[in-house]
Amino acid sequence: MKPPGGTATTVVFVPAMDCPDEEREIRAALARLPSVKSLTFRLFARQVVVAHRGPVEPVLEALRRIGMEGRPVDETLRKADLPRTDLGQWRTLLLAGAALLLGVLLYAFLPGEPLARLPFLASILLGGAPVALRGFREVRNRSLGMNALMTVSIGGAALLGEWAEASVVVTLFALANLLEARSLDRARKATMELFSASPERAVVRVGGVDGEERTIPPEEVRPGDILVIRPGERVPVDAVVHRGTSDLNEAVLTGESLPVEKKEGDPLYAGTVNGRGPLIARATLALSDSTFARILRRVEEAQTQKAPVQTFMERFAAAYTPAVLGAAILVATLPPLLGGGSAAVWVYRALVLLVIACPCAIVLASPVATLSALTRATREGILFKGARHLETLGKVRAVAFDKTGTLTHGRLRVTGVRPAPGRTEEEVLRLAGAVEAGSAHPVAEAIRREASRRGVATAARGTLARTFAVVDGRGVRAEVDGMRVCVGNPGMFGGTDSMKDEVARFTVGGEEPAGSTVLVGTDDGIAGALFLSDQVRAHAAETVRALRGLGIRHLVLLTGDNEAAARSVGDSAGIDEVEHGLLPEDKLERIRALVAAHGAVAMVGDGVNDAPALALATVGVAMAAAGSPAAMETADVALLTGDLRKIPSAVALGRRMVGAVRQNVVAAIAIKLGFLALAVAGYATLWMAVLADMGTSLLVIFNGLRLLSPRTDIE
Ligand code: ADP
Ligand code: MG
Repeated sequence: MKPPGGTATTVVFVPAMDCPDEEREIRAALARLPSVKSLTFRLFARQVVVAHRGPVEPVLEALRRIGMEGRPVDETLRKADLPRTDLGQWRTLLLAGAALLLGVLLYAFLPGEPLARLPFLASILLGGAPVALRGFREVRNRSLGMNALMTVSIGGAALLGEWAEASVVVTLFALANLLEARSLDRARKATMELFSASPERAVVRVGGVDGEERTIPPEEVRPGDILVIRPGERVPVDAVVHRGTSDLNEAVLTGESLPVEKKEGDPLYAGTVNGRGPLIARATLALSDSTFARILRRVEEAQTQKAPVQTFMERFAAAYTPAVLGAAILVATLPPLLGGGSAAVWVYRALVLLVIACPCAIVLASPVATLSALTRATREGILFKGARHLETLGKVRAVAFDKTGTLTHGRLRVTGVRPAPGRTEEEVLRLAGAVEAGSAHPVAEAIRREASRRGVATAARGTLARTFAVVDGRGVRAEVDGMRVCVGNPGMFGGTDSMKDEVARFTVGGEEPAGSTVLVGTDDGIAGALFLSDQVRAHAAETVRALRGLGIRHLVLLTGDNEAAARSVGDSAGIDEVEHGLLPEDKLERIRALVAAHGAVAMVGDGVNDAPALALATVGVAMAAAGSPAAMETADVALLTGDLRKIPSAVALGRRMVGAVRQNVVAAIAIKLGFLALAVAGYATLWMAVLADMGTSLLVIFNGLRLLSPRTDIE
C-alpha cells in the first residue's frame, strides 16, 4: 500500500512478540524512529502494522537491535503464518529441569557435600540466563516486566544461598512460560483459522471462455476474467457462475456447513469451496474487494480494538506493579531497621513479593476471553466490529426489528396488479418498472422482476438518471416519457380527502399478508396498484422467544410499511409492539426514545431505510447476507446469514464473555492480593509464589479459551 505523501504501511510479523510486555518494548523501540508515523499492534497475530516514511529496513533493523527478528508480510491474503515459537522455551525448560533433577539426586546420595549443590547453580544459570536477558531489555526500555522482576527475585534467592529453591523457581517459571505460550497459541490459531481459507491460486482462461488455461495467484485476477473452478477447489475471487451447476460450501463466510446450490447467474464468493460440479465463472471483484477479504479486514480490526475492561486492567496493572515493588522495598528494609528480625528473612519475603508483582495474569484477564468470544462469533457467521459491541449486546434491554429484509426475507413477489379504468396491467408495470430501475429496494427488485417475467419493456428514454429521486422511505419518483411518475406506498399519496378516497379504492382488498401495497401515480391521477407478498423468515418466532427467554422484555417492530402488513408480520413473529408507517427519521426517533427508556438498545435492520437508526442504536445489527457491503460497513454487528437465531446466541455469547472476564478479573486480583498478605506474613515461599502467579495466568487463559467452544443449551 502506498498512499500519497510517501507514507507506506507495512505489516511486520514478529514471532517473538507474545505478551503485552513485548508489545511495550517494541513500541518503545520503534516509536523512537523518525520515519515511523504510527503503530498498530495485533498481538495475537504477532503482527505490528507500521506506517512509515521511506524504506522499511530501518524498522526491521531497530527490531533486530532489541533482539526481535521481524519480517514484512504481504497484506494480501496469505495463509496464516504460525511458526513454532516454543523451541527455545523447551530448551530452557529441559536444561534447567535436568540440572535440577541431578541436583536433587546428588543431594539425596551425598548430603552435606558442598559440591553436590553445584547442579542447582547450573540450573539457575541455564534457566535464568534467557530470563535475565529479557529482563535487562525490559529495564533498558524502562518497562518493568515479568522478566526483570523474576531476575531480581531469582538472583536475590541465589545470593541468599537458597540455590535449591531458586532452581525450582527457575524450572517452574520455564514450565509455566511454555504452557502459557502454548495455550495462547491455541487461541491464536483459532483466531487465525479464517485466514487459512484464503484462496491460493486461480485458474483463468486467457482471452475468453474458450481460451487457454493458466494458473495465477488470486491477487492477479481482474474483474471480468473467466475462471475455471474445479470440484474441491476454493473460489479465488467473488464471481458469478457463467456455466455449470454445483453446490458450494460457504461455511467460511456464513458458518453454515449445508452446501448451497449454484447455477448460471448465481454469485460465488472467494474462499468458499466448490462441491461436485466444475464451474466456469466470471470474476466480479478483485480479491482485495471480495467479501472474504472485507470480512478478514473486519476481523483483524476487531482484534486490535480493546474492550473497555481491558484498558481498565492495563491501567490497573500499570499502577499495581510499582505499588507491589514499593511494598517489597519497604518489607526488605523497614522491619530489620526497626529491629523486627533478621534482614535475610525480610529480604526473602520481599523477593516473594517481586514474583507476585508480575502483572501478566491481570493483563491477560480480558484479551484471551474477548478474542476467543470474537472467534466463536466469527465461526458462526456473526461479525463484530470489536469486543466492545459484543459486550454491549450482552447488556441489551430492548431490541427493535425492521420488517422488510429483516424479519422477512425481503424477496418480495408481485402477486397482483390492479390498473385504473382505461389502463392495462402492462402499462402499470411499465411505468412502475421504469421508475424502479433506479432503486435497490426489495420492492423495486420485485417490480422489475415481474416486468421482465411478463416481457414488459420498461426502459425510460434517458431522462431517468436526471429526474430520479427517493421520497424518504415511502417510495420513488422520476420522469417517464415526459410525465412525472411516483411509485410508493399509500402514505406517499394520501394528502387531501378526495385523494385518500381514491387511494382506498385501489388498495382495499388486495393486500397480502406480510406484503406491501404500492401505488403508481401520474400527473393524471393514480394509474394502478401493485400488491406484493413477502415471507416471514423461518426462525423469526423462535428468535423472539429466545430473546424473551434471555430476559429482554421490550421487543418492537419498526416499519415504513402499512399497518396490515406490519401487524401480520408482528403476529407471526410474536411481537405485539408494532409501529408502522415510519419514515427513516421516525425510526430514528423511536430508537432515541427506546435508548432513553431502556439504556442499551439493539436495532436489527437490513440497512435499507434504517441505516441512521442502526447507527444510533447502542448496537446496530445488520442482516448482511453475504454480498451486501453497505450494511456490513455501517453496523456494529453483521449477520452473514439470514438466520435470526444468531441474534440471541450472540447476546448469550456476549454475556458469557462478560462473565468470563469478570471471573478472571476477580480471580486475578483476589489471588494476587491474598498471596501478597501471605508473603508479608511469611507464609509463602518463592516457589509457591511462582506457582500461584503462573497458575493464575493459566487459569485466566483457560477460562478465556472456554468461550471458543459452542454452548449447546442456547443454540
Ligand atoms: P421496512 O421498514 O419494512 O423495512 P422500508 O422503510 O424500507 O420498509 O420501506 C417502507 C415502505 O416504503 C415499503 O413497504 C414500501 O411500501 C415503500 N417503499 C420504499 N421504497 C420503495 C420503492 N423503491 N418503491 C416502492 N415503494 C417503496
Ligand atoms: Mg428494511
